[in-house]
Amino acid sequence: ERREAARSATGPGATADGHAVPLLANVGGPSDVPAAVEAGAEGVGLFRTEFLFLDAGDEAPSEEVQAAAYREVLEAFPEGRVVVRVLDAGADKPLPFLSPGSPGAPGSSAQEPNPALGVRGLRALLDHPEVLAGQLRALARAAEGLPVQPEVMAPMVADRADARAFAEACRAAGLRARVGAMVEIPSAALRARSVLQEVEFLSLGTNDLSQYTFAADRQVGAVARLQDPWQPALLDLVATAAEAARAEGKGCGVCGEAAADPLLACVLVGLGVSSLSMGSGALSRVRAELARHTLAQCERAAAAARAAEDAEEARRAATAVLSGG
Ligand code: PEP
Ligand code: MG
Repeated sequence: ERREAARSATGPGATADGHAVPLLANVGGPSDVPAAVEAGAEGVGLFRTEFLFLDAGDEAPSEEVQAAAYREVLEAFPEGRVVVRVLDAGADKPLPFLSPGSPGAPGSSAQEPNPALGVRGLRALLDHPEVLAGQLRALARAAEGLPVQPEVMAPMVADRADARAFAEACRAAGLRARVGAMVEIPSAALRARSVLQEVEFLSLGTNDLSQYTFAADRQVGAVARLQDPWQPALLDLVATAAEAARAEGKGCGVCGEAAADPLLACVLVGLGVSSLSMGSGALSRVRAELARHTLAQCERAAAAARAAEDAEEARRAATAVLSGG
């Protein structure tokens, strides 16, 4: 019985009635991997590669250095998923080598009046195709000879054209990988079906998705109320994207902070989200909460949360459903 308890403490994520919900880890590099493995992560749902670039200073790290880091993370999960996010520079993640003054840098955080609405994420990479191509080639090299194909996704995809440009860059770099788009901008959630014509999966970045939905800067404490991931408007956008993915027979995960809140994680599953990725420290609590409720209960909690008028009421309504009240 003790072994059973230990297994369920680190085993695969599932609802009480056995609906599988892979529980993945957010990592910033190889040094985060042991904690993810220890916590029973079924893979990596978000490998934030900006740390690799931050450590490199004024230039992009060489393809060799990048490939070595990607390889280490890929090897830690030989059977599992590893989703590498290409460089998400700009706004809250400024990077020196993409800043003004560096050769060839067009828009940059420092020069823009609204960096969060400027050339960041995928936009900065499409302006620096050599940086994107280098990253994709490094990943292709890292994945050589491994049993499972890696997955790669772009941050800040706004529309189908962005998704197409990214998928084309992956093909041009000779990368054999499942290609996905992050949904962090309301336009991409609203037209998720169209974005899915170009990519194989979606991953919702709820931190930025709430920032852009509520016009509330994620770095400004004074607007924290609007950054609450229980906001019904945010849940509506999650549902829209998840329904589109289901209609296309494709996966739709969440890799923002919302996935780390155990009750909200159940609500996200009830909205149709197919996997959850979070900091390793949150995995055991989310796994345990999910195991307490059936998929139907999660769906009822999701409906109750969406019917609420604000975040507080949504939290209360979902809690009441999930505690059997
Ligand atoms: C997000 O925006 O929710 C996300 C996962 O990415 P980041 O927090 O790195 O912007
Ligand atoms: Mg983001």
